[in-house]
Amino acid sequence: MRVMAQIAMVMNLDKCIGCHTCSVTCKQTWTNRTGVEYAWFNNVETKPGVGYPRRYEDQEQWKGGWRLDRKGRLVLRSGGRVKRLLSLFSNPDLPALEDYYEPVTYDYDNLISAPAGPDMPVARPRSVLTGRPTEITWGANWEDGLGGAPEHAGGDPNLSGEWAEKVKFEFEQTFLFHLPRLCEHCLNPACVSACPSGAMYKRVEDGIVLVDQDRCRGWRMCVTACPYKKVYVNHATGKAEKCTFCFPRIEAGQPTVCSETCVGRLRYLGLLLYDADEVGEAAATPDEKDLLDAQRNVFLDPSDPEVIAAARAAGIPEDWLDAARRSPVYALVSKYKVALPLHPEYRTLPMVWYVPPLSPVLDAVTSAGGNQDDPDHVFAAVTRLRIPLEYLAELFTAGDADVVGGVLMKLTALRSYMRERTLGGDDAAEEEAALDAVGLTAGEAEDLHRLLAVAKYQDRYVVPAAHKEDAAALTAMENRCPVESSGEPASARKVMLGIPTLRRTSPEGHA
Ligand code: SF4
Ligand code: SF4
Repeated sequence: MRVMAQIAMVMNLDKCIGCHTCSVTCKQTWTNRTGVEYAWFNNVETKPGVGYPRRYEDQEQWKGGWRLDRKGRLVLRSGGRVKRLLSLFSNPDLPALEDYYEPVTYDYDNLISAPAGPDMPVARPRSVLTGRPTEITWGANWEDGLGGAPEHAGGDPNLSGEWAEKVKFEFEQTFLFHLPRLCEHCLNPACVSACPSGAMYKRVEDGIVLVDQDRCRGWRMCVTACPYKKVYVNHATGKAEKCTFCFPRIEAGQPTVCSETCVGRLRYLGLLLYDADEVGEAAATPDEKDLLDAQRNVFLDPSDPEVIAAARAAGIPEDWLDAARRSPVYALVSKYKVALPLHPEYRTLPMVWYVPPLSPVLDAVTSAGGNQDDPDHVFAAVTRLRIPLEYLAELFTAGDADVVGGVLMKLTALRSYMRERTLGGDDAAEEEAALDAVGLTAGEAEDLHRLLAVAKYQDRYVVPAAHKEDAAALTAMENRCPVESSGEPASARKVMLGIPTLRRTSPEGHA
């Protein structure tokens, strides 16, 4: 067992109101600069919808993430080292400007310098790239609240299969929810493995994936390899930039800016301990539907004495072990199993997980003539919710609708139980039986309810500060890497050769 620690995030999608505060505060902090106008380290998508960049989830087109070859080995979808070297100067698998959008500014000067005339002067849009007048036809948030959905949302790559007929883009028959996205700081990051320069790397101490600006040569292999399309190229510097997980704040024990400013208070940050020796095997799990369990099995119980001993031996400090035991992320991901990873089938083992949204379940009960207080009626309604289980399954469980249904039933049972308890109903025994059916005790239900509904700042963000005094020891760990560069998958048994991809942070030059 090789214990490592990773800072990870969970988002409770039921609470996201799509206000985009997270995107704006992130942009103000990290990408309010020339060259990255189009870069949204954090963006909030409306689902169903094609996302940003357009149809980024279509890996047949973009070749992001990993696949298994005929022998069951992990290989990058974007191809092996030779193919990638051959496409250094002509890479066809990159989203183009029209898949993002043309950054614009406005002709503000016209407002004050236009000659007097019968009409109010206007500030027309101008391309930031060419300086010429342009039309605004697309943007990172073009589909907000299903805007233009009848025209565009059918292009959502998740709408495959016969069940997609259930998804209607007609007023009164449709559904939507918001999906905030950032870099997943994956355990098996395709971007790191694809980088020919060794510029992308995963930090030993907390798993944050960064770009060394001094090493980046602008080959853009990371953009192709990232299945979430969360690496952007700065068109002014020609170098890759991505979400930094606000590492200067994390090192100071503070939450990321997107978390700190989240209006819905739906983000959770905490440590997960994991067994780095198991990462490669988990990512190579043959059946995509087993990837969720495989990734959960990589995570370690921070209260297990054996894990604690191994973590101490690996040099993880005591306050980090304490933080791992109090981690809300561990509770939601592993203890209560209500959080799910985004597109586990990409095999990068993402580390930003989501509590799936529960559409108005009680409405579904009454509209079907059921009794809101009868758990059987409520559970049955989960399968008829406005947001089809199959759609959520495409996003979070590689198509396994039963797993998503199980999580929603757990959330439904929890809601029902707390409602009964708070309103002083007389069906406590029946509600406890419903809890039992989804594997929760009354005490666990209270704990989960506190975490999901009323958790305070210090419960949502359990971020231990960095230990600068351990910098030398961490540098020595550079060669103990769960991921490798140049297209080689994570492997517990391989010794990393060549360019280090998992290493200690140097003080400057990251993006
Ligand atoms: S989500 Fe982040 S860590 Fe994962 S492959 Fe993309 S850029 Fe790399
Ligand atoms: S700030 Fe929070 S509630 Fe608002 S869009 Fe972002 S994640 Fe959703």
